[in-house]
Amino acid sequence: MDLGIRGRAALVCAASKGLGKACATSLAREGVAVTIVARGREALDAAATEIRAATGADVTAVAADITTPEGRAAALAACPEPDILVTNAGGPPPGDFREWTREDWLRALDANMLTPIELIKATVDHMIAQRFGRIVNITSGAVKMPLLALGLSNGARAGLTGFVAGLARQTVKHNVTINNLLPGFFLTDRSRTTLGAIAKSRNITQEEAIAERVKTIPAGRMGDPAEFGEACAYLCSAQAGYVTGQNFLIDGGAYPGTF
Ligand code: NAP
Repeated sequence: MDLGIRGRAALVCAASKGLGKACATSLAREGVAVTIVARGREALDAAATEIRAATGADVTAVAADITTPEGRAAALAACPEPDILVTNAGGPPPGDFREWTREDWLRALDANMLTPIELIKATVDHMIAQRFGRIVNITSGAVKMPLLALGLSNGARAGLTGFVAGLARQTVKHNVTINNLLPGFFLTDRSRTTLGAIAKSRNITQEEAIAERVKTIPAGRMGDPAEFGEACAYLCSAQAGYVTGQNFLIDGGAYPGTF
């Protein structure tokens, strides 16, 4: 299916690796010019080269911390009027809520709630004026199925989800949609690091930790980031103009509810 977005411009945050990179790759394959942002220059340049070679698309790389005002300014300077915005940032660390300070909460809120809101604020009016815009926020399956140790993530992302639920209903009449993509368990650097820590604390191998986790997933495997990227591209398609305010869980069936 031609997604009808050839020639559009996308700003894809936190995209030198993992899910963000997969979203940028799928959009680039559809002929979208992508601006990718991450802090580390080396992985960012490698990702840009790889996406360019795989898709032939225009790829601009911006080395910046998207959770800071300066970082967002640099990203928006490179891609001031995106047709498509994919928000993403690293997730907060796990822990015990009794040990989290106000500063820990503010960092999590900044990264996983206020940064996406600031980026939406900076780009949505242009999208409304041109009567086309697609905004996808990468959140987490933990919004729907909270994990106790990820309380900082659960809390901050739930705040973003609530905000988006309202705004998405105001923008859709202008053909500007806002949706959230909720990853379950995907094989990325982040999940490898998390599993490595779990494995170490329990004195088991990383493979054993993965096998245990996979047992809880009806699909019987971890997700491939490319599967996530393709879902993102669909939500950004011309055809998806009637889909807004949704929380699209991609988790191999792990969430056990009917809805
Ligand atoms: P990943 O493989 O570790 O990739 C994270 C990417 O984000 C890297 O390119 C990283 O590059 C960039 N990044 C991190 N912080 C940034 C910042 N402040 N500014 C700009 N770029 C930043 O992680 P992932 O697995 O794709 O996860 C992406 C998001 O999905 C995270 O919020 C994670 O919590 C959430 N999530 C993932 C899973 C999963 O199974 N993978 C499940 C649920 C939720 P630099 O470090 O160089 O900046």
